[in-house]
Amino acid sequence: MSRIASVLLQLPLPEAFDYAEPEGMDLKVGDQVAAPLGPNLLRGVVSALRDGAGHNRPLKSVQARLDEPALPEKTLEFVLWAARYAVDAPGMPLAIALRGARAPKAKPVRVVEATGLAPARLTPARSKVLEAVGAGAQSGAELARAAGVSAGVVKALIDEGALAVRNVVPEVRFDPPDPAATGAVLNPSQAAAASALREIVGQGGFQVTLLDGVTGSGKTEVYLEAAAQALGADPTAQVLILLPEIALTQAVIGRVAARFGAEPAEWHSDVAPPARRRIWEGVLSGACRIVVGARSALFLPFSNLKLIVVDEEHDASFKQEEGFIYHARDLAVARGKIEDAAVVLASATPSLESFRNAETGRYHWLKLTGRHGAARLPDIALVDLRETPPEPGRWLSPPLVTAMGETLARGEQVLLFLNRRGYAPLVLCKACGQRMTAPDTDSWLVEHRYSGRLVCHLTGFSMPKPSACPHCAAKDSLVSIGPGVERVEEEARGLFPEARVAVFSSDTIFDAREAKRLIESMAAGEIDILVATQAAAKGHNFPKLTLVGVVDADLGLRGGDLRAAERTYQLLAQATGRAGRRDRPGRALMQTYAPDHSVMQALKAQDREAFVAAEMAERELAGLPPFGRLAAVIASDVDPARLEAFCRAMAEAAPNTAGVEVYGPADAPLGLVRGRRRKRFLVRADRGVDLSAYMAAWRARVKPPGSVRLAIDIDPYSFL
Ligand code: ADP
Repeated sequence: MSRIASVLLQLPLPEAFDYAEPEGMDLKVGDQVAAPLGPNLLRGVVSALRDGAGHNRPLKSVQARLDEPALPEKTLEFVLWAARYAVDAPGMPLAIALRGARAPKAKPVRVVEATGLAPARLTPARSKVLEAVGAGAQSGAELARAAGVSAGVVKALIDEGALAVRNVVPEVRFDPPDPAATGAVLNPSQAAAASALREIVGQGGFQVTLLDGVTGSGKTEVYLEAAAQALGADPTAQVLILLPEIALTQAVIGRVAARFGAEPAEWHSDVAPPARRRIWEGVLSGACRIVVGARSALFLPFSNLKLIVVDEEHDASFKQEEGFIYHARDLAVARGKIEDAAVVLASATPSLESFRNAETGRYHWLKLTGRHGAARLPDIALVDLRETPPEPGRWLSPPLVTAMGETLARGEQVLLFLNRRGYAPLVLCKACGQRMTAPDTDSWLVEHRYSGRLVCHLTGFSMPKPSACPHCAAKDSLVSIGPGVERVEEEARGLFPEARVAVFSSDTIFDAREAKRLIESMAAGEIDILVATQAAAKGHNFPKLTLVGVVDADLGLRGGDLRAAERTYQLLAQATGRAGRRDRPGRALMQTYAPDHSVMQALKAQDREAFVAAEMAERELAGLPPFGRLAAVIASDVDPARLEAFCRAMAEAAPNTAGVEVYGPADAPLGLVRGRRRKRFLVRADRGVDLSAYMAAWRARVKPPGSVRLAIDIDPYSFL
């Protein structure tokens, strides 16, 4: 009897399907195959092979082994681990891991080569062609250009048999990094951290290190030393550097290239299919040794991964909220364990989870003291908006406007930070009071002036801004309430007409190249005032930026979820940390209605430890992360009654386990999205509980009707 192959398909199926292995196919675990499912042939990966003896059900056969590289065993192990952790179908992370494999292969190109036969006649033009061909195979047109002759000369040589045309698939090549190239001269604090990190990486194996240092302390310089160690110790070693924003990958790519004399590969959703394919193959073959990317880079098929760096590890953008729900920091640690690689988590404001792991000794803890060189941390002051409010209809208070004027007069730059896209977060009718909302979603429509549209940021729904109220038909009655970056830009232009003002938000910056251009132009001093959402407020170094104005410091506190204070602290510490580099001292002004709030006080005093201690104490008391664990269940259906009934049944089916509490079902704060009603459960568990296993057991006890969508979110960051 032949063998049985378990094949994972890129579909939300609970497990791999069994197929018979055709005689002589000789499959291996990791092989990419075509397998029939219903009337379709699908791409899948062999996840296990076993003897078929005793199997009595007739099985369909694997149709073919694809002419594609096999997935490394550890990558497959990681995919399976991630699915189990996230309580989701293994086909979901598999689809991410095969993203590069689905991109079209490079097409063969026609190249001209010498055959060794001498041409009948050797003119000077023909000799030039033969010389050029000796320098390397290339297309006929390139050859003619290189030799400075007409295409006819090349063609004649081909006709005579001195040259021949061949189709070749271009080789996937990457510049090899030079780990021996010297980096920056490190200051004593950096040198100590770097040598500790080199030692950890040099020991090999899985170890996690928290690299903790204020903005501008040189964490990047230090982790590049760890990369140099990994690359230098083993000529096939690979390094992965993860960043939370595409805009940041651009800056780090430049620094990696400068450090190692070779461009690293760049991986995120914007990478075009041909490059995606090339990098995926290069990572798999080992030719590509350094990858800088966003969270999905974690699923690349590395052949010998030795170091994973998660830069800005506290950043909430590492949490993937749609489709396969996961936190890239947590999965990076898991991947490091599977690959037996070192993991470095870098941040100026580590997550409380990482703090706790460092405090309890599970992670190494390396600290950088102070900013590099002459640079000092900015002075942070609070602007009490109750005392010095902006003029009506404006958003910048007199103290901030004055500070902006002083900064611009010195020829320095200003960053205005507001984590809100568009022009105004709310549009309402002053005649009937109606708020403009999306038709099938519980969220306000955000006004965008550049596009003249009202946009739902949750679903992407948009409509032109109407000239009359859709409810009461009053003409010209719609008013814009509150500020977004576009509105602050308008105000800044009005106040400082001479200044060069730019906006950085995901609506104005469409791709990585544009982000890079804007960041470079800010760094070069070609912009005076940059109005930015969080996309540009992290990680960058702008030498002439000396004033950061936080337009609405209270914004992140309003949601009031578990991490609101922590997230606000991290975001504002990052944003204000952009001010003051090199020799120019910086300052930050934070506009707030709650100057006494512990977050504002901690930021002002730059007392991270006090803030963390207070926050930890609260979490510990409530058994919340990092002292306990959380999971959420989100169920949705177009039919509210059916959803209600299902959620009741689900509540009853919750396993009764010590150390686990189930809350809900409750209407989700976002009760309606794309026409579907939403309900949520929240599960809290003690640290020792295997929460994924608990959730999987619960999930297995319920059978949702086909119309109900059920999502499980381990360690939720969004509670909407
Ligand atoms: P962090 O990652 O901690 O925010 P960076 O590594 O980005 O800090 O360093 C901040 C700035 O200081 C960068 O412009 C960097 O090039 C510079 N810098 C840091 N350390 C050194 C050093 N030892 N020599 C020269 N420049 C340095």
